[in-house]
Amino acid sequence: MVNSLNNESLSIYESWNIDMPSVSARSRLYNLKPIGMGTGGAESLTSYIARLAAAHSLTPAVLLGRTLASFMDKKYWLQGGARPGTRGSALGHSFGEHAKAINGIGVIAKDWVAALQTVTLRTDLSFLTMLPWTDVFTHRNLLRSSRTWCPSCYQDWRLNGQQIYEPLLWTFRDLDVCTRHHRRLISQCQHCHRKLPWLARCAQAGCCSKCDEWLGTSLDEVSNDAPILDHKLEWQIWIAKNLEELIIAARRLPSPPKGRTAQSISSCINQASDGVMNRFARLIGKRKNTVWGWQHGQAQIPIDDLLRICNRVGISLVDFLYADTFVLDDIDLIQTPAVSGVKAIGRSPRHLDPKATKDALLTILNQQTSLSMKEVATRIDLNKRLLYKHFPELCKAISTRHKQYRYKEQQRVRKVIADKINETRMSLHNIGVYPSRRRVVAAMKSKDVHHFMREKKTKIENLTLAA
Ligand SMILES: [Zn+2]
Ligand SMILES: [Zn+2]
Repeated sequence: MVNSLNNESLSIYESWNIDMPSVSARSRLYNLKPIGMGTGGAESLTSYIARLAAAHSLTPAVLLGRTLASFMDKKYWLQGGARPGTRGSALGHSFGEHAKAINGIGVIAKDWVAALQTVTLRTDLSFLTMLPWTDVFTHRNLLRSSRTWCPSCYQDWRLNGQQIYEPLLWTFRDLDVCTRHHRRLISQCQHCHRKLPWLARCAQAGCCSKCDEWLGTSLDEVSNDAPILDHKLEWQIWIAKNLEELIIAARRLPSPPKGRTAQSISSCINQASDGVMNRFARLIGKRKNTVWGWQHGQAQIPIDDLLRICNRVGISLVDFLYADTFVLDDIDLIQTPAVSGVKAIGRSPRHLDPKATKDALLTILNQQTSLSMKEVATRIDLNKRLLYKHFPELCKAISTRHKQYRYKEQQRVRKVIADKINETRMSLHNIGVYPSRRRVVAAMKSKDVHHFMREKKTKIENLTLAA
């Protein structure tokens, strides 16, 4: 039985507004704030991507494959040279070479910034790259191809409970020294001695993406660094200061326009050499055709030359790129030595300080890490042939030691891999799985194994089991 409706027993409730409230747009991923924005220590975009992935408990490879890839239709590098359709392809081996460009001035940087801004709803990510200087920089000598870091900065940040990241500053090829710790930046893992890409498939902040070891070391620990000569340190401090100012300026000022470098170099020629281009070319140690090309906007000035020119004429990089006009200090440039090492064309070889150079070579010979003579020459900033001429015995000793070191290292790596293969084979065998080549490789998930097996055409089946 249904009771008839009794109107008097019903109460009247307040009425509700069911219009949808206005809610600001929601971002697909966290609106993660970049580190150091507005300072000279601003984060690089590759560092930001790694942190963004970690904030979602993802690896960069998964973040790229599942979220960002759909916004960037660039299959040629998303697949990283691996077989199409395989999930492990994003951020693969060949991608490592492209990763540096994410922080650069080209289309790869633009694509990543656009995709990341779409998913985070941030509008400031181009400042984590060199895109603000697209119109005044050239690719030549700009970016470091592999990840570079200061072990003491990592260590300090960890001890102070700060976020671990990589500043954009470290991606400039011309910067070799951390001016906070007065030690060389490093681009080889101190544990596995391998070079690392700026963005790897998976890596923890401050750790090696190949061997997972922590990359920080304190200054108190015995450092294997070769000593930095005074003139080199002075020059590096100048570079760091100017690049930091540039990074800050990018955030605050409109980007420099295309014709800026031509305009500024003309201004320098007028003021430093009374408008005589040949004389200016001699002053900065470049050929006159090269300088003519720069002055007439036919080529952009590579960053290393740009830094040397600014230093030579006594102007900051920010003034050169951002100021509409500037006035150079009235000094006799011909008589003033340049800390950057720029000398007029036709110069005699760089002055060699026999005692300091010998000490530097002896330190290198006795340090734990072995270096090739090419690396030694770069480190102490002197020509290799010049070093051989003045210190033949020391140079030969360094070179022989490095050859032995490389041979031993090769043998060691081979043994580690062979042991690992045997171990994996045994574990597969023990759980009743036939240890085929493919299964062993999949179980090991190591690129080295691929290389090793491809190069040596080693058949897993031919390797004897460990006794
Ligand atoms: Zn440092
Ligand atoms: Zn490592």
